[in-house]
Amino acid sequence: QFGSNKSFVQASDIQKMHKRFDNFSHKGDFGRILLIGGRGGKVGAIILSTCSAMRTGSGLVHVWAEGASKDVIHISCCEAMVEGEKILDELDKFDALGIGPGLGEVPQDLLRNIFQSTGKPMVLDADALNVLSKHPELWDLIPKGSILTPHLKEFERLTGKSSHHFERLDKASEYAVQHKVYLVLKGAFTSISTPDGKQYFNSTGNKHMATAGSGDVLTGMITSFLGQGYDPLNASLCGVFHHGLAGEIASKTKARGMIATDIIESIPSSFLEMQ
Ligand code: AMP
Ligand code: MG
Repeated sequence: QFGSNKSFVQASDIQKMHKRFDNFSHKGDFGRILLIGGRGGKVGAIILSTCSAMRTGSGLVHVWAEGASKDVIHISCCEAMVEGEKILDELDKFDALGIGPGLGEVPQDLLRNIFQSTGKPMVLDADALNVLSKHPELWDLIPKGSILTPHLKEFERLTGKSSHHFERLDKASEYAVQHKVYLVLKGAFTSISTPDGKQYFNSTGNKHMATAGSGDVLTGMITSFLGQGYDPLNASLCGVFHHGLAGEIASKTKARGMIATDIIESIPSSFLEMQ
């Protein structure tokens, strides 16, 4: 802990958050989640989130997809269940939602309807954040305790330009408090700002994670933890920490050649390292 409201997250903190499951567990105990995105030419983004959620331990992962993307998702992640448009009328049956990777430009009503039809916290990333920056009136409808995961550019679109990193951190905290959300500002030393004005800094990850799809993997991980019953703070902290650790493990053999899929493959090793 440094300052009154800022702390650095370490392995021992994360270990304490891990849920223990007994030998009689069944898949229903590990959460049912829905991921929404992957339209047009960006189906790869939601595939990364899907595979990542499976590797993070979700019991059941559903994906909302359009037309031809359905087959591609099935082939890339045969464990997932692919859903059509109608699933948006059944959001209540999911423990958590993750929206945004590869979503593309969608009418704001899509987000509005999703926000209004479930009060549960959800994960908002990528194009979901871009819709939000074009329609700031949607901020008030976001379910309380939701988790937003912008990278620096997305954060700037949401909150305007900042002249230096400290100003950006202050803004992240203000937004988190004002809108009662968790704001995960991604980059080296990702920060997690909370609705009660605290700020956490992650200690894992490295420069090799600056690669396409890396953030989509994080979305899958945080949504998975949320669906497994972690509260939004612990889901964010565990997601960011294990994402970084998986990246460190994968980069030991892949270095600059590491790609997002390698991060996913190393998620189980990251859990083993923390046992
Ligand atoms: P995105 O830009 O949405 O693909 O997200 C990039 C992901 O990679 C985030 O989780 C970042 O925290 C991580 N990342 C990017 N660059 C670095 C870096 N230099 N050091 C550590 N993590 C990084
Ligand atoms: Mg991204």
